[in-house]
Formats: sequence, structure tokens, C-alpha cells
Amino acid sequence: MPMNETHVSPATPAAPATQADTSLADAQGIDFHMHSTASDGALSPAALMSLCRERGLTRLSLTDHDTLDGVAEAQEVADALGMTLLPGLELSSQWQGMNIHVVGLLPQGAQGSLVAGLEAQAKARVTRGEEIARRMEKLGLHDALAKARAQAGSDRPLGRPDFARAMVADGLVKDMGTAFKKYLGSGKRGDVKAGWPYLSEVVEWINDAGGVAVLAHPLRYGLTRRKRGLLLDAFTAAGGEACELVSGFQNADVTRDLARQLDERGLYGSLGSDFHFPGGPVAPGSMSPVPRTALRPVWQHPRLAAILDQAA
Ligand code: AMP
Ligand code: MN
Ligand code: MN
Ligand code: MN
Repeated sequence: MPMNETHVSPATPAAPATQADTSLADAQGIDFHMHSTASDGALSPAALMSLCRERGLTRLSLTDHDTLDGVAEAQEVADALGMTLLPGLELSSQWQGMNIHVVGLLPQGAQGSLVAGLEAQAKARVTRGEEIARRMEKLGLHDALAKARAQAGSDRPLGRPDFARAMVADGLVKDMGTAFKKYLGSGKRGDVKAGWPYLSEVVEWINDAGGVAVLAHPLRYGLTRRKRGLLLDAFTAAGGEACELVSGFQNADVTRDLARQLDERGLYGSLGSDFHFPGGPVAPGSMSPVPRTALRPVWQHPRLAAILDQAA
């Protein structure tokens, strides 16, 4: 990647973190959940890092779906801009028939069983894309695979958003939201998840790689409080140690309640925007206020602290 195309300016280094952010509530300049063109994000890893720097982020992770492919490019730019980037990803899994996402924060990148796990995820995504295409054909999207591929704009493995965009482009639905609501969202025809590994397996891969498994956006699975507790129990029993307390924008009362559920299980708290593209409601580092809780911040986890805690 040519550095002269990344808009890297020899700016002042990002502001150092302070003693004050030893609690989640005081965290500044942090985002441990973002996407690039290595999966379904709109910005290249380099462009994303530049935007993060503009927005004053200091500690971050690039967490593309089921791949670390964007990390090397992002690392180069993050280093040049004085930000601390933790290699990461967001693994697709299944639990009780639902598609559950687990962020892996991976100080050592892919190691151990995660290496084979990533190959399996890539294959599962290819097979799944073909199956989604067959189903979308039946729903009226002709040449579904080719059209989704064109929307992806590269040879990366396809995801549901590529099919959603193809449906919008074909005039089958008016926008992405409708495409998910009618055809691709949870429980709809295009929600193919049979090929994903179980939740417990992806947690094991992350631990085996010396990383920290973070349950992603626990409020976005449409679960009751009780069922969410069962998911947290299963995740914890599998060896998961952290969970996103705040993911993008969410209700303050629900956040407080979630904090209690995490505290009861001794989980570390993480924060992320789940940024995918500019121009929407979410930007890198943007998320709801973080309440003052007793939860330990994930950057104080022993496997991450050497890199992240008090990093500048
Ligand atoms: P996949 O990784 O193929 O399962 O696709 C899941 C991705 O679809 C998520 O990571 C989101 O980026 C996107 N997505 C999920 N629900 C919606 C929605 N309602 N509208 C737009 N995008 C969505
Ligand atoms: Mn996504
Ligand atoms: Mn997700
Ligand atoms: Mn995500």
C-alpha cells in the first residue's frame, strides 16, 4: 500500500491517555469495534485510520468480519499517526439457532487453532454466499451472486449487506433496512447460519491465539433479559472474558441493566461504535455515554494491558 495515498500527515502524536481513564466511564479516544473494506465497511483500512486520527482516537481495534486481512495496512497507518491499534476481528458463530458475533482482540494476531478457524470461516462464507444467492434468486434477484459480487467491489468473501445492496440496486426494495427486514435479517430466508461454528468454538480459537474474546453488541440480538443472561452464561462457560457494554447508540437504562449482568459474571467491559461507513449516525469513536460502573475496562485485561493501558 503506497503511503502517499493514505493522507497521512506528520501531525502531532495523538494525545496521551491519562490516569483518569482507569474506569470505563472516563474512557476517551477508544473504539474497539470498527469495519473496513476487508469486510463490509466502506473505507479502506488506511482511510479508516486517518478518520480515527481526525476524530482524536488513541486506542482502537479494526474488527472486520471473520478476517484479519485489513490489519497490516491499518497498523502501518496507525503507527505513523501515533495511535495504538490492536489487531482484531469479529467472528460469526451460532448459539441456539441465532447468529452471535464475538469480537477477538488479538495482541499476537492469528495463532494456534485460530489459524485453521479463519480458513474455515472464509470457506463457510463462500458456501453461505452461494446458498444466499440461490435463495435470493427464488425471491426475484436474478444473477444474485454476480450482482452481490459487483456490490462488494472486490474478491473478499460476501456478506448479507452485499445482497441487500444488490436488491436495492435492482429496485426490489427501497433501502437496505427493508432488504434486511424482508429478506436477510434474523429468521428471514437469507439469514443462512448453518455453516458457522458454535459460540464456544470461536471463543476457544480466540483464547488459543492469546487474545481476549468480547461478546459483541449483546443488546442487538432481540433477546429478553433472561435469555441474554443465558447467552452470557454460555459465553462465560466457554471461556469468554469480556462483553461490549456500549455498542454505538443505546438506551441508558438498558446499559445500566446490562452492566449489572456483566458484573454478576465478572466480565470485563468493552466499548465500540461498530462503524461501517461515513455519513450514517455512527462515526469512529461515537457511542452512547458510558455509565459509572464497577466493571473493569477490557484494556486492563492482563493480556492487553501491556499494549493498551496508558498507551499513548
Ligand atoms: P453477515 O456478516 O453476512 O452475516 O452480515 C451481517 C452484517 O449485516 C452486519 O454486520 C451488519 O453490517 C449488516 N446488517 C445487519 N442488519 C442490518 C440492517 N438491518 N440494515 C443494514 N445492515 C445490516
Ligand atoms: Mn457488518
Ligand atoms: Mn456484529
Ligand atoms: Mn461489527
